[in-house]
Amino acid sequence: MTWHILGAGSLGSLWATRLARVGLPVTLLLRDAERLAAYHDAGGLTLVENGREQRLAISAQTVDASDPIRRLLLACKAYDALAAVDAIAHRLTADAELILLQNGLGSQQQVTERLPGARCILASSTEGAYRDGPFRVVFAGRGTTWLGDPYHPAPPAWLAELTQAGIPHAWSDQIQSRLWRKLAINCAINPLTVLHDCRNGELDAHQDEVAGLCTELGGLLHACGQDEAAAGLFEEVQRVIQATAANSSSMRQDVGAGRRTEISYLLGHACAEGLRQGVPLPRLTALLQSLQAHLRARGLPDT
Ligand code: NAP
Repeated sequence: MTWHILGAGSLGSLWATRLARVGLPVTLLLRDAERLAAYHDAGGLTLVENGREQRLAISAQTVDASDPIRRLLLACKAYDALAAVDAIAHRLTADAELILLQNGLGSQQQVTERLPGARCILASSTEGAYRDGPFRVVFAGRGTTWLGDPYHPAPPAWLAELTQAGIPHAWSDQIQSRLWRKLAINCAINPLTVLHDCRNGELDAHQDEVAGLCTELGGLLHACGQDEAAAGLFEEVQRVIQATAANSSSMRQDVGAGRRTEISYLLGHACAEGLRQGVPLPRLTALLQSLQAHLRARGLPDT
């Protein structure tokens, strides 16, 4: 069965190239005819791994092509997910399966509500990749992709294809807990690195702020029924800060490069969920407002 991959960005290209190079059928879904022409001019997708380059002439088409889609890897940003799914909804078969690679929370719910008949598998990845040119992806960080389906706990048979392609993965029956935990860690670190314009390790100088955010995040997780995701949160945030001390957070990188952030699906989602659950989150709300003002001052979207 063909792997349709929507979004030839960093993660979409990382998946597409690894699946295609072991001979699995892959088709890229690109935004429009202009992007498709640019792709053909590039001669395919290039994967840069351990300093070695490999170009793969993977088949590609625009999202509005007409052949049916049974398996779709949705590899766009969270804020593009719903519009992207709208663009291909008419092509999905009745038994279609989607893998949602988006970071944070909120976009998965938008997609599952838009496609009530489709199986949506949620993913949380610790792999890292970035684009160093058009249709070129650099495999920057080894990791694992956790996959799970909160409604149907049985793993799909195609996980064997990920093994065949050398894509590290694990099936999780607690995928929402994993997504919440990752979101909480992100909320405690990334916005502060933007506002203090610092690398992760420099948050050591702002321990009290980090601790206060973790206290509120823990309360929110409990209120959302995510007790496991709340356990030892501050200690893990401290461990992440130490382990990634020299790194610039993804949000700080986005702001530095003038790119839109996924704020609405991270800190924005936490604050919205606090309102919904009736949990006061004064520190997180103030942080969200400061971050939004910071983004607006730089001409970036604040959602
Ligand atoms: P990215 O490099 O910006 O790639 C997203 C791609 O989606 C772009 O190529 C974009 O096309 C395409 N796209 C958006 N809307 C589309 C549409 N309607 N039709 C066709 N293509 C469309 O993003 P990414 O870094 O791969 O991130 C994807 C998700 O994975 C995010 O939620 C991110 O947080 C998460 N994630 C990323 C990493 C990483 O290391 N990169 C790691 C973990 C998680 P255009 O170029 O035409 O706009």
